[in-house]
Amino acid sequence: MLHPRIMLTVCGMFMLNAALLAQDVKSTKTYQRIKGNLDAVPAIDTHEHLRAFDRLSTRVETVDGQAMNLFSIWTGSYFPWINPLTPWPAGAQFDVWWESAQHDFENARATSFYRSMLPAFKDLYGVDFDTITSDQARHLNAQITENYQHDEWLHDVITNKANIELMLVDKYWNRLNFDREYKFSAPVLNVTEIIQGSHAEVFKSDNDSPFAFAANRNMTIDSLDEYLAVVETIFQTAVAADAICLKSTQAYQRSLTYEQVSKERADEVFGKPPVAMSRSEQRDFEDFMFWHICQLSAKYELPFQVHTGQARVQGSNPILLVDVIESNPQTKFILFHGGYPWVGETAVIAMRHKNVWIDSCWLPTLSYTTAKRAYGEWLEAVPSDRILWGADTVHAEGIYAMTEFTRRCVAEALAEKVVRGELLEVHANRIGRQIMRDNALKLFPKLNRMLWKTPEAQRRGT
Ligand SMILES: [Zn+2]
Repeated sequence: MLHPRIMLTVCGMFMLNAALLAQDVKSTKTYQRIKGNLDAVPAIDTHEHLRAFDRLSTRVETVDGQAMNLFSIWTGSYFPWINPLTPWPAGAQFDVWWESAQHDFENARATSFYRSMLPAFKDLYGVDFDTITSDQARHLNAQITENYQHDEWLHDVITNKANIELMLVDKYWNRLNFDREYKFSAPVLNVTEIIQGSHAEVFKSDNDSPFAFAANRNMTIDSLDEYLAVVETIFQTAVAADAICLKSTQAYQRSLTYEQVSKERADEVFGKPPVAMSRSEQRDFEDFMFWHICQLSAKYELPFQVHTGQARVQGSNPILLVDVIESNPQTKFILFHGGYPWVGETAVIAMRHKNVWIDSCWLPTLSYTTAKRAYGEWLEAVPSDRILWGADTVHAEGIYAMTEFTRRCVAEALAEKVVRGELLEVHANRIGRQIMRDNALKLFPKLNRMLWKTPEAQRRGT
């Protein structure tokens, strides 16, 4: 039996820890130290949609010409996915827009789509958006426009303030282009439309079309075999251009159930124009192509990022992919967005299958609470070298905000385990570095050649 005084001390420690947890782990020194360590990690961001500086997608027509402004920041965030955002009246003054827009945030205050953007305003502009006044908003708008006169702002925010060393850019607007627009960007081969390519008319843009790609190289596509040969040439072109991985966002269009369809069946339906193609014929073709792409993923050592969860939710549960995952053990599958809301399902898939990684990109922005719980659960179910992160947005402010939001979320999940006595702080710091950086360098070894920030890279003179 314990001495009463020791009992009291033990109880006291327990109550202190319980009180700390009830209070808020973010107020502890443990959290602050872990967060500080995470901030110092030059991050590898596995998923972005950043365009070349002169082609950023959210510039608008203002009284002073084309400009980035406060509207550009919000419209390029995920806020408008669930909240109204007053459109920018072309050529208008800021005050005309703000008169209405200031009321757009009233029902959004607790949402992560809103709160994930706040660190950008607070840390980069010194403004608390929850209490912003019209004068502050007008000033903020002018500062944003001023910052985007040159690309130094974007570089500074991404590489210094957000401390990102490399990011994978998914160019869903130009899927077969592998140019690196920034020294910190690396290309991805987005295969969403290749999977759908049963006929030239399926493609809305030549930028994404293997048929246009073939025409530019004097290749013909008159049969499925020729289509597959062109697809293989695209893979070789991507590899030669240092593409890092594949990406599919088919979950926005169809179910993630991919049956194993024979090549004969795919051959039967290939070449039918979309008007003559039934839905089940198109689905069979895509099922065949998805499995084919899984084989190419293994052959060309391009891990496969697959959008799971929040999309067309009746068919986006990552569990639907398990048969494909099991039948393609050489393919490295990366389940995107933690499969939100199916974060537990995602964990058990990664637990059962060693060819699966979990990418938490976008997850804290969807729901901070789910993301924090997910990091806690995943670390209990899956080795810590199989969890990744990405910010998933289109401008410097969004990238900064979502990176900071993620660092807080990871730090909080780790600090809770440390405070509860379930993890040593030294191990928590190592895990944090793995999630923010090391796991991506291990899964995508080509990235090691592109490092430019770390002392090792500088010593190599890259
Ligand atoms: Zn994305």
